[in-house]
Amino acid sequence: MTGWRDAEPRPFWLDSPLRPPAADAISGEQSCALAVVGGGFTGLWAALQAKEDDPGRDVVLLEQAAVADGATGRNGGFADASLTHGLPNGLERFPDEIGVLERLGRENLAGIERAIERHCIDCSWERPGYITVARAMHEVDDLREFVPVMREHGLDAEWLDADRMRSEVDSPTYLGGLLQRTEAALVDPARLAWGLRRACLDLGVRVHEGTPVRALHELADGVMLTTPDGRLRAEQVILATNGFPPLVPSIRRYVAPVYDYVLVTEPLDAARMRSIGWRGRHGLSDAGNQFHYYRLTDDNRILWGGYDAIYHYGNAVSPELEQRPATFDLLERQLLETFPQLEGVSFSHRWGGVIDTCSRFCVMFGTGMSGRLAYAVGYTGLGVAASRFGGRVALDLVDGRDTEATRTRFVRSRPLPFPPEPLRYAGIRLTVRELARADRNAGRRSLYLRALDRLGLGFDS
Ligand SMILES: Cc1cc2nc3c(=O)[nH]c(=O)nc-3n(C[C@H](O)[C@H](O)[C@H](O)COP(=O)(O)OP(=O)(O)OC[C@H]3O[C@@H](n4cnc5c(N)ncnc54)[C@H](O)[C@@H]3O)c2cc1C
Repeated sequence: MTGWRDAEPRPFWLDSPLRPPAADAISGEQSCALAVVGGGFTGLWAALQAKEDDPGRDVVLLEQAAVADGATGRNGGFADASLTHGLPNGLERFPDEIGVLERLGRENLAGIERAIERHCIDCSWERPGYITVARAMHEVDDLREFVPVMREHGLDAEWLDADRMRSEVDSPTYLGGLLQRTEAALVDPARLAWGLRRACLDLGVRVHEGTPVRALHELADGVMLTTPDGRLRAEQVILATNGFPPLVPSIRRYVAPVYDYVLVTEPLDAARMRSIGWRGRHGLSDAGNQFHYYRLTDDNRILWGGYDAIYHYGNAVSPELEQRPATFDLLERQLLETFPQLEGVSFSHRWGGVIDTCSRFCVMFGTGMSGRLAYAVGYTGLGVAASRFGGRVALDLVDGRDTEATRTRFVRSRPLPFPPEPLRYAGIRLTVRELARADRNAGRRSLYLRALDRLGLGFDS
C-alpha cells in the first residue's frame, strides 16, 4: 500500500491559488509599539485584537516563512471551543475552574465567528457537529458514561449506538459514537489565516514575511529584535512561535515539538461517497490514546491525520521531518481498515507539521523582560480556536490588564517541565510506547503511565 507516494508532498490547505503574495522582509532600523513574532493563528489574533482595541497602536508582525506556513496551515481544521484540550483534560487539571474555562471557550468560539463575519473572511466555516467513535468495547463504556458529564457542562451530546453510528458514517470498525452537536466547527485553516492577515493589513498592522527573528535583547525602554536584514526596537513583544526553536529559554523547558502527519485523498466520486455515507459531514476522531482525526473537505476529499506523534532528539524541527514514509504507510493502511470500501483510492497531498506539546496539553503563558514580553504556547494539537484566546491573554498580560481570564489558575500556572535531553527523548519515546500498549490492553494503563498521571505529567498530540 503506497498510494500516498503519488501525493503532493505539501499541505493541501496551502496548495491554493488564494495564497497571498509574500510581504517584504523587514530591513534597516525600525521601531514599533508592539512586535508580534509568529504569523500563525496566535500571532494573527494577537495583532488583530491589539489593533481592534486601539487602532492607533503601531503593531508589527514578523513571520520567518509566510503567514500560515506553520501548524496553522497544516492542521485538520477542527475548531473546538475547549481551551483545555477537551473537557476530560480540563476536569482533570482544572476542576475548580472548569465552568469558567468552558464558558470562556464558548465565548471565544463565538468571537471567532463574529470576526469572520466582521472581516468578511471566506473560510468554509461550518458547524456539522463532531463525533468521537468507539472501536473497542472499553471505549464504548467510557464514551457512553461521559454523555451526562458533557450535558452537565452545557454541551449538546448524544450517544449513538453502532447502528446509528454506521447510519451516519459507515465503517465496519465502529461500535458506537459520541456526537457533540455544539461548540465545534470545521474550517479551512489557511483561508481563515489569510483572511486574518488581510484584516490585520486593513487595520494597519505592518506584516513582514521571510523575517526570522534571530535574537531578543532587553533594553532600558523596550526590546530589540534582530533579524537577518534589520533590527526592530519594540516597546512590547508577543511571542507566538509554537513548537519552533524558542527565543526565550523558559519555553524550551515546557514545550516539546512533536510531528503529526496527514494524508488527503483525491475527491471521492458519488459512488464512493454513497459507500461510506457521511451525509452529515461531521468531523470525526477515534477514541484511543493514539487517535486519528478525519473530515471531509469542500470537494469531498478525506483529510486523515494523527495516530503517530513523533518527537525527534534535541527538539529537532526541520523541513525534512515533514515527510515520513513509515507514518504515511501506517495512515494509508489504517484509513483502508476503517473504510475498506475505499480500496484503490488515490491521495492528493501528504505532509507533517509541528505540534507544541506540553505536559498539561493546553496553552500556557509566560512573561519576561521586565513584563515587556509575553507568550502563549503549548496548545498540544488543539489550538485552532484556543489560539484566539491565547493571543488575547498574551496581549492582556503584556499590557498588565487584570481580566477574568488573567486571574485564572489556568493562565497563572505552568505545566510540569519536560526533563532535558537525553531524558526528554527517552521519556517521550517510552510514554508513546506505553500509550500504544494501553490501547491494545483495553485501555488499561501501566504502572509507568499511572505514575505520570499522578504527577500530572502527560504526553499527547
Ligand atoms: C498536523 C497538525 C494537525 C493539527 N490539527 C488540529 C486540529 O484539527 N484542531 C486544532 O485545534 N488544532 C490542530 N493542530 C494545532 C493547531 O494547528 C495549532 O495549535 C494552531 O494553529 C496555533 O498555531 P500557532 O499560531 O500557535 O502556531 P503556528 O501556526 O505554528 O505559528 C507559529 C509561527 O511562528 C513562526 N516562527 C517561529 N519562530 C519564529 C522566529 N524566530 N521568527 C519569526 N517567525 C517565527 C513560524 O514560522 C510559524 O508560522 C494541528 C497541528 C498540526 C501540526
